[in-house]
Amino acid sequence: MRALILIVIAVAVTACAQLPSLPLVTHHASPKRADKVVHTSAQWKRLLTPAQFSVLRGEGTEAAFSGAYWNNHQQGVYYCAACGNPVFRSSDKFDSGTGWPSYVRPYDDKSVWIREDDSLGMQRIEVMCAKCDSHLGHVFDDGPTDRGGLRYCINSVSLTFKKKS
Ligand SMILES: [Zn+2]
Repeated sequence: MRALILIVIAVAVTACAQLPSLPLVTHHASPKRADKVVHTSAQWKRLLTPAQFSVLRGEGTEAAFSGAYWNNHQQGVYYCAACGNPVFRSSDKFDSGTGWPSYVRPYDDKSVWIREDDSLGMQRIEVMCAKCDSHLGHVFDDGPTDRGGLRYCINSVSLTFKKKS
């Protein structure tokens, strides 16, 4: 009987679960922070290139194998191209074969937040910059199992890279 109750509770908890808890992602909504970067759409349009605006502010996706960083193997830090927030590290990058820069985890627990994305008839988890709420990409659970199993699939155009000096 006790086992049955535990199973019922486990099913109920699973059914109610919203977004999965991902290592280093503590936010499932735009986090409040003192250095938040907020601009109107017109201001973003002036600040970003058309390609950056389309992905970062329009939740677009760049073509696979088209970006600057999918094949970048230099050591350094990747920053949000819209606000300069550090979002990923080269030490967490891996060759996913997808044509997009792929990471096993974000830079730290303050760098990104996640939300459900049901667009295009797919259920995906969208990855957002925690400082300016720009779209960076999506996170999937088919990453390297020996490194946590996650694949942060990020658009190159959403990033800038600073090589470790
Ligand atoms: Zn940002």
